[in-house]
Amino acid sequence: SQVPSITLNNGLDMPQLGFGVWQVPDDEAEKAVATAIETGYRSIDTAAVYENETGTGKAIAASGVARDELFVTTKLWNSEQGHDSTLRAFDASLDRLGLDYVDLYLIHWPVPAKDAYTDTYKAFEKILADGRAKAIGVSNFHPEHLKRLLAETSVVPAVNQIELHPQLQQAESRAFHADHGIATEAWSPLGQGKGLLEVPTVVAIARKHGRTPAQAVLRWHLQTGNIVIPKSVTPSRIKENLDVFGFELDADDLAAFTALDEGKRLGPDPAEFNAGA
Ligand code: NAD
Repeated sequence: SQVPSITLNNGLDMPQLGFGVWQVPDDEAEKAVATAIETGYRSIDTAAVYENETGTGKAIAASGVARDELFVTTKLWNSEQGHDSTLRAFDASLDRLGLDYVDLYLIHWPVPAKDAYTDTYKAFEKILADGRAKAIGVSNFHPEHLKRLLAETSVVPAVNQIELHPQLQQAESRAFHADHGIATEAWSPLGQGKGLLEVPTVVAIARKHGRTPAQAVLRWHLQTGNIVIPKSVTPSRIKENLDVFGFELDADDLAAFTALDEGKRLGPDPAEFNAGA
């Protein structure tokens, strides 16, 4: 496919653009993932808490695409953190997905109040050693959480998946990741399709290139080096979000994007998010 890969710190290649399925009910997810794979996506991002691993797995099985051409990510939910509960939760995720390995397994949130992410990650290291995940990483970790993980465990996370879009550019996290060989993956890359796609700067850049605002934003991510996983259940948008390799933003466009950063979080601050603790 035309989607470039990012080589993770353990040598595994991950498509830089994939398909996210948060907030998509299981039966709809099956349809959406089928459409995405048919359209050309080869990376799918789900999570146990999305309750659509089953539908995602069914679409993968029915796709006819060889398993080793797909990159499947899932995540451990907060309530399952801890060594033994993690091993059990991982088995359950694989079972729902109908797979014998995932490409990437992530700790969904650090959950500071639980204080269990290092024990959890040690279970992840076993899963990795067993070959049941080709890479392991984290999500929503601030640099302070990563520092502790790096100090107390052995395997440097391959990825940190964080909220990241032009209005929340996460410079500090991106610099920390770059220093430690951790790939940055952007969740809600389109700002959840809310205000961001109507921002005049974004609309103007899109118009200049004869593209849509969503395509301009995805181009910004790709040229910034982020891995992206835009979500849609609408076939025309699923297609549109993949069709971002035929144009390039110039230095003026990139500077205009840089100026949009306002530290605007759409989701919770990971330092304070303890759901499922
Ligand atoms: P997103 O930024 O991908 O926006 C998706 C929404 O934008 C869609 O529901 C739709 O309303 C709109 N949209 C999509 N394509 C469009 C287009 N071409 N034109 C106009 N509008 C369009 O938001 P998201 O779903 O929050 O994030 C993407 C993925 O990131 C999720 O599906 C999930 O896989 C992952 N995620 C992870 C976490 C985490 O804690 N790790 C949190 C949120 C999301």
